[in-house]
Parts: sequence; structure tokens; C-alpha cells
Amino acid sequence: MARMPGATWLGEQSPRTPMSRYDIVCVHTIVGYAPAHAAHFSVKADGTILQSRDTAYRSAANLDGNHRVIAIENEDHGPAFGGTPRLPAWAPLTDAQVAANAQILAWAHTEHGVPLQPCPDSRPASRGLAYHRQGIPGNFGPGTAYPAPGRVDGGETWSSSAGKVCPTDTRIAQLPDILAAAIDLTHPTDPSQKPDPEEEAMTPADKSLIRRQNKATRKQVQLASELSTAEHEDLMAAVGKAQARTTRSKNQILAELKDLEREIAALDAETD
Ligand SMILES: [Zn+2]
Repeated sequence: MARMPGATWLGEQSPRTPMSRYDIVCVHTIVGYAPAHAAHFSVKADGTILQSRDTAYRSAANLDGNHRVIAIENEDHGPAFGGTPRLPAWAPLTDAQVAANAQILAWAHTEHGVPLQPCPDSRPASRGLAYHRQGIPGNFGPGTAYPAPGRVDGGETWSSSAGKVCPTDTRIAQLPDILAAAIDLTHPTDPSQKPDPEEEAMTPADKSLIRRQNKATRKQVQLASELSTAEHEDLMAAVGKAQARTTRSKNQILAELKDLEREIAALDAETD
């Protein structure tokens, strides 16, 4: 049994064929109104999540991928989408739909271990967040009317209808938003909650040293800012005098050395 908390349960609409594994969450567009019982989940324009199939069982939305794909259908008709859309121009998912798809993906990650990453294609080892067209052969790809790629060699076929554009390029372009929001839901990025990894690696002694260094620097800055111009000049004059004294001492020592050298030379001359 795997029903998503917060989703409206519509009763089991599948023939109860168990999933074999959980690799992918796949985004679809309904071409109509929610719900579409072929998928596990349907998302209405206002972000309401409907569940037609327990994720213990397969959907009927991804053909050869059904044994490992959790399917989400998204509503695309109605006032939020300008009525009945025409291809290839297609209204994007509403913000509420993006958020709802992210909630489903985050839940699928926690509940079933679907990785929070873009799924590159429909090949059997590929995992993550996918879109239906990745398993559909057709005239897709850069330079065509439908630039997002379709099925690649070796990929599973996810529809019996070749050329199906689901979920449209407009909506495929929103997958990074869904993924980012799902990552945010499972791993909050609020900097006040997330420890600095460099700071985490430091020992308590390191941290104490850095705290003391920071304190010393703050003290220096504070002292410098407190000095008036006159005080600063006095300080520089004192430093100058100290340097002059040092120079005098040095010259004195050098002079004494020369005297000693002369005395030694005189003594050497006497012993010759
Ligand atoms: Zn589809």
C-alpha cells in the first residue's frame, strides 16, 4: 500500500499488477481534464492532487515502462489554460501544478527511492524525473517543431502512438523547476539551516583559533578607526624615532667592530 498523504484517493482504478521497481517519475499532459485514471496521479489546474492507483501497482500510462515508472497526468484544458489549447502552442503548467508535481516527486523519492535528478532517456538503467516523449519515437529534437528529444536507441517505448508530443515542449521546459522544488522540499536550502561544509570539517580547536583571529582583527580595525589624525602622526613620529635609535645603535656597533679589527691587526703586526 502506498498512497500519498495529501492526495485525494479516488479508489483503486488498476488491475493491481505489482510494480517491479521504482526508477522514474514521469510527467504527462492529459489533453483534457483531471483525473486520468491511467496514471497513478492527476494534477488539476489549482494544484489538487488526485490518486487513482496505489503506487504498489502499475500505471497504464508508460507502456513498456509501466513496471518501473510512477506516472503523473496534468490537466491542460479549462480557463487556467485559455480554454482548449492548440498544438504546438500549449499553456504551461500553472505554478500550483509545478508545486504539486514537485510534492509527488519528493514523496516518490522518500517513499520509493526515485532519485532527484533529470532522467536522461527511457533506457532501462535510466532513473529520475522524466517526460513521456522520452519513450516515444517521432520527428522530435532540435530544429523540429518539437525540440525536446524523443526516444533514443535502446530506450523503452512508452506509448503505442508514435509522434505523440506529450507533455509538449512548453511543459517539458518546466521539469527543472519541478526538480528544483522537489529538492528544496527534501533538502531545505535555507542558508540559516544548512551548515557550511567547510566549517563542518573544522575541529573545535580550528574554530576557536578562527574566532580569536576574527576578534583580534575586529580589535585592530576598531583601534585604527579610533585614532585621530594627530594621534596617528604622533604614532608615526614615535615609530620614526625608534627606527633612528636602532640605526644609531647599529652604526655604533659597526664602529666598535672596526676599532676591534684595527686592534687585532695591530696585535698581528706585533707578533710578526
Ligand atoms: Zn503522456
